[in-house]
Amino acid sequence: MAAKSHGKPGIVEADENYFGTVKTFKRKLKACKTCTEQEDITYLWVCVTADGLKKGFCGKKSGDSPLAMYQWLNIIDEAASLGANWLVLSLADPLEECESIWPISKWAQQVHGMTVGLHLKECASLTGKETKLIRQLDLDKTRVLLRCTSKKVPEKIEKQGITVWTANPQPDGEKPKCLGPKRMIFVNENGVLYTCGLVEGNNTYRIGHVEDGRLKHILNDPEAPRKVCDDIRVVTPGCDGCPALLAGFFQEM
Ligand code: SF4
Repeated sequence: MAAKSHGKPGIVEADENYFGTVKTFKRKLKACKTCTEQEDITYLWVCVTADGLKKGFCGKKSGDSPLAMYQWLNIIDEAASLGANWLVLSLADPLEECESIWPISKWAQQVHGMTVGLHLKECASLTGKETKLIRQLDLDKTRVLLRCTSKKVPEKIEKQGITVWTANPQPDGEKPKCLGPKRMIFVNENGVLYTCGLVEGNNTYRIGHVEDGRLKHILNDPEAPRKVCDDIRVVTPGCDGCPALLAGFFQEM
């Protein structure tokens, strides 16, 4: 991804003052969106580990350092310029170990007005420490997504002002009532873009890498698969946290 680090915060540096200086930039992004033909993107879905978003390419460069924070933020910026107003971060590691999610989430909320979904994989409840950490975000623009084992999904609960949604509103094995991946950008923790989370790791559905170029061009590549074959389109845990699925169950999306 052609990105410049100038003016963007590092993990530790991100602060309120900084966010206040980027309004001009945001206006430019909006102008850009109105004068170019874009895909109708609504959701950005990114997988995160405690190491951040790595540069590794399909595991071949697993020793590579993580993408720099400004590159993360560029991904958010580009997705926002394409129309994304939701960012879902699927965390493979415990929330308290994923430090990079805080500046990224704040950037998405404060600069682009996006709603952030924090998807805590394999978690069914929030600890007190997690609750405290999450409360640093704009809670009106935050949803926590947890895997629910109950049959009585979807469910929406409030925990200390935090809105919690089930990450799996539809039982495994059913045909997903999703809007499909056309309105979504999915990035795994190695920076590889796939059609959606269900087909992550399946080379047939690999679209590119965040460093391949501008997201707009990657997504508009006629060779890029933007739907999943009906034969394999079945709800699995790979669909957990999928914003295109949640949108069918939660009116707010
Ligand atoms: S991850 Fe599942 S629910 Fe989401 S777009 Fe793909 S098939 Fe549909």
